[in-house]
This record gives sequence, C-alpha cells and structure tokens, in this order.
Amino acid sequence: MQQLSDLITYLFQNSPFYQNWFKAQNISISDISSIEDLKKLRTVSKQDFAAHNMDFLCCNQNKIADFCTTSGTTGNAVMVPLTENDINRLAENEARTFTLAELNTSDVCMLMLTLDKQFMAGIAYYEGLRKLKIPAVRSGSVSPQTQLKNILQFKPTVLVAVPSFILKVIEESSAQGIEINSLSVKKIICIGEAIRDENLEPNNLAKNILANWNVQLFSTHASSEMQTAFSECTHGKGNHINSNLIIAEILDEKGNEVPNGDIGELTITTFGVEAMPLLRYRTGDIVFAIHETCECGSNEMRISPVLGRKNEMLKYKGTTIFPSSIFNVLQSQNFIKDFLVEAESKEGRTEKLVVNICCTEQTENFKQNLENFFRTALRVTPEIKFCSESELAAMRPAENRKIQRFVTR
Ligand SMILES: [Zn+2]
Repeated sequence: MQQLSDLITYLFQNSPFYQNWFKAQNISISDISSIEDLKKLRTVSKQDFAAHNMDFLCCNQNKIADFCTTSGTTGNAVMVPLTENDINRLAENEARTFTLAELNTSDVCMLMLTLDKQFMAGIAYYEGLRKLKIPAVRSGSVSPQTQLKNILQFKPTVLVAVPSFILKVIEESSAQGIEINSLSVKKIICIGEAIRDENLEPNNLAKNILANWNVQLFSTHASSEMQTAFSECTHGKGNHINSNLIIAEILDEKGNEVPNGDIGELTITTFGVEAMPLLRYRTGDIVFAIHETCECGSNEMRISPVLGRKNEMLKYKGTTIFPSSIFNVLQSQNFIKDFLVEAESKEGRTEKLVVNICCTEQTENFKQNLENFFRTALRVTPEIKFCSESELAAMRPAENRKIQRFVTR
C-alpha cells in the first residue's frame, strides 16, 4: 500500500518520536508495507502523545500555519500544529462531509461553533465550505438568542452545531413565539455528541430535536489528533471513513483487532498529514465497524457513533455502562434542564454513581419514574440528586469548549 509506505518513510525521516519508537521495536522501513504489517507495531496512547507532544512534529517551525490544541479536559492542552497543506487536507475532508450531506452552492451554512480558542473543527468546516463555494455564516459559540437572530437574518439552510445546544435554540424560539418550522433551516450537521444509538437509530437527544423541528440530522465523529472527520451520508447508517485520509482499526484491550462488528477502541493512522501525522494512535473512542455496503452504494468501511470513551467505561453493580447511556435516559425527559453524572471508582469498579439533575419537576414521583427508566435501560439505577443551576455549575470543573456532563472522583 503506497500511502502507508510513504507515511512510514516520512516518519523515519522526520518524526523524532517515531524514530525512537521504531528503533525500540527493531522496525525498519521495509517491515511495514501493508495494513496487515501494522500489527507488528505497538500502538501509541494519548499519554504518549501528551508526554512527547513536540517530538511528534515532523516539520520546521517556519512551516506551521496554525497552532491547534486538542479539546482535552485535563492538564495542559496538547498541541496539534498545522501546515498550509494540513489545512487544505482538513478542507478536503470537510468538503466531503458536506458533499455526503448533499449540500450545494445554493445552500447557506451557519457555523455554530467556536472559530477561535485554537479549535480545529471551526477552521476545518469553514475551509470545507470555502472549497465548495458554499456561503458561510460564522455565528460562533454565542447565546441561543444570538443564534436565533442570525438564523432569522442570514436564513441558513444548514447548521453545523452541537445537538444539545440545538435544543436551547428550539426553546428560545418557542419563548419568543417563533414557529421553528417557519425558519430556513433544513439540515443540521451534528458535532461533538452522538445522535444515534448502538442500532444506528436516533437516540433520545435526536428524537427530542426531531419532535420539535422538521430537519434532517447528520452525525459526525472527529478529533483534533485525527485531523479527520467521519460523516454520515443521507442514509444515516454509520459514519463513512475516507480511506484516502485515514486507516481505522478497532482494537481490544490487548491491541488485537476485534472480530468483525464487535466493539473496541478506534485506533487510527493518518495519511497526508505534514506536521503531526499519527501511526496506530489509540483515540480512546469505543466504536464498532460496519463493513456492509451502504445504501448510498459506498463500500468504504463505516463506524458506529461513539458508544463511550474508554476511560469512562464504568463497572457498576456488575454491569458495564458508559456515561452516554445515562445521558440518553436523561435526555428523554423534558423536565430536565441540565445534569452532571458523577462516578467514584476504586480498582476498576464504580462504587458510587450519582446523577445530579437540575429540573422543573423536583418530586418524589418523578424521581421514582426516572429510576424505573434507568432500570429498564441500564439494568441498574444510579443515585438521583436534585440540585439548582448554580449548584450544578459549582460541581462542574472549569472548562472551555465543551459542556462537561460527566466527572470522576
Ligand atoms: Zn452511505
């Protein structure tokens, strides 16, 4: 496989980290020429990437066009610098996202995400739109009021947004007495959160949006380290992987490939990245692969929504659960305005699991109903605590780009 051989040669010549990595494992350039050969190499963890961050840089400082950072929630932000070519690669990738969602030059796309704070996704979507000559509205991460005002003024047909934030825009439009379905928006490309369950059906968050707003939702899955996004076509049967840009492997705890369709950790190898290419990088995202031909005719591998983060996997009362399954139950309840899930774990077991809820219906009856919902969905019931908005804010660690809904103690 030419792209893989090119990558290995490039890393051998330019990456201080991989030069050491290959040396320590006695690997020479000729050892890796096929995807099968990748198995000879140890995987690289998030910790390796953070600890040796700048050793991953393969180019001179003067080739860097933009410094991005990962949206990690702990410790120092990890840098992912981009060269001009890397920005073009992002543009190509997101142009494909928009093409899969069948956008064209008659659309107007409003970007409801931050374009500053070293955030990669913002520039990626913006450059993708420019490549396709689709007009952009850089709305940014502003209040639901301002987003609504911008929708009314610029009449976008497409939004790129965090789906739980879309609910706030729906709420705002209802508060202002505006009929949401009279707005120009027809499609929403959802970022940062899953909108489908493990059967690829809309999860409760998506159902909540669709019950109020007659739009088409598209799922995506991306991260700054991957410098790549996986996106859905109009059939919504898993996120398509662009095999020209990335190799995706789904691995178990020991680093072996899981049987076809089983869940495992997404491990990636990037093609065409100049500044910080990655080889066998474990993303921490738990997913499964879909190999059947898509209804759109594509034979490319697709991957499921992120079922959870590897480090967030909880073993509670003998059951394995991900915070996302807890979120899914909470997001089915209209009364709930906001929430934070807290887990206390010891030696790999979760001893305490508390769901802090800010809601309008703080009654014993509602609590019992919610417990029943949890029992049905997860087979276990976390402890439920009601709290005010300010109490919830105080519990939440200071954070910049994403609303934190899960913490471990
Ligand atoms: Zn498809």
